Amino acid sequence: MQYAENILETIGNTPMVKINRLTADLPCLVLAKYETFNPGNSVKDRMALKMVEDAEAAGILKPGGTIIEGTSGNTGMGLALAAIVKGYKMVCVISDKQSKEKIDILKAVGCEVVVCPTDVAPDDPQSYYSTSRRLAEETPNSWYVNQYDNPSNCKAHFESTGPEIWDQTDGKVTHFVVGVGTGGTISGVGAYLKMKNPNVKVWGVDTYGSVFKKYHETGIFDENEIYPYITEGIGEDILPLNVNFDLIDGFTKVTDKDAAIYTRRLAKEEGFFLGNSAGAAIKGLLQLKKHFTKDDVVVVLFHDHGSRYVGKMYNDAWMREKGFLD
Ligand code: PMP
Repeated sequence: MQYAENILETIGNTPMVKINRLTADLPCLVLAKYETFNPGNSVKDRMALKMVEDAEAAGILKPGGTIIEGTSGNTGMGLALAAIVKGYKMVCVISDKQSKEKIDILKAVGCEVVVCPTDVAPDDPQSYYSTSRRLAEETPNSWYVNQYDNPSNCKAHFESTGPEIWDQTDGKVTHFVVGVGTGGTISGVGAYLKMKNPNVKVWGVDTYGSVFKKYHETGIFDENEIYPYITEGIGEDILPLNVNFDLIDGFTKVTDKDAAIYTRRLAKEEGFFLGNSAGAAIKGLLQLKKHFTKDDVVVVLFHDHGSRYVGKMYNDAWMREKGFLD
């Protein structure tokens, strides 16, 4: 008989799928690391489990404890799976720009969900950063995960996502393109691929409204770069410790409209039903066309699943309301 002992054992070993139509104008092979296939339908299952295991090993997450995290939904889902199997309580602090589907999904897997306003500064007491910290201080036997600065986030990708990409491409990968939020994915995968082959180029996809690209290019944290945006999961108004800027060769920024349109194109033209950070990632990759040549093997990572966005960019009325559809 072949079976997993529990749902956590099914995390990882996701497929690599060739992108055909959307990348037809590029000279190179483009492959998608398709993270939707994780049990929580996102790449974040990997780092959620790793952060929990490392916290248990360090004695900071104890039996019967409560896990508290500020999460845009996907990390919360991964943490919830770990909490269920390992017997912890899970509290997710989420900002109100996140889709209703994400909140409902977290509740479905037993999380307590606290919703905070998006349009406040990170140090505002109502922000989701401040609220998660405060709840962790007030809740006995709790552990505040802090995926932004928790080194286990990046380590998970160094230990699993990176080696899978290297092995699935037989070491032929030349470029890695990925959306950046906490930075765990780009830094962990980037470190592994560059360790195996220092010539691999690592590109981050950023959003308008986020500080990463400007900071990478100038070393300046420019508050004028910060404003509300729609694409979920990528871009930040802070500099998380998990973004290793030294490993990143460059950033490209993608508009909310392009992210939404390309997410819909991935679904309709490739059969890839994904979230809008995937649309941003593929549009960012297309913007980098001049960097690719015939023999290159470009890997793009798709973080999560389209079901979380059916009321948003997959909905024509929503697209029109945002001015994204003519
Ligand atoms: N896309 C989505 C949908 C996400 O949830 C995240 C995680 N914030 C990212 C992209 C970015 O991944 P990372 O945090 O590892 O940079």
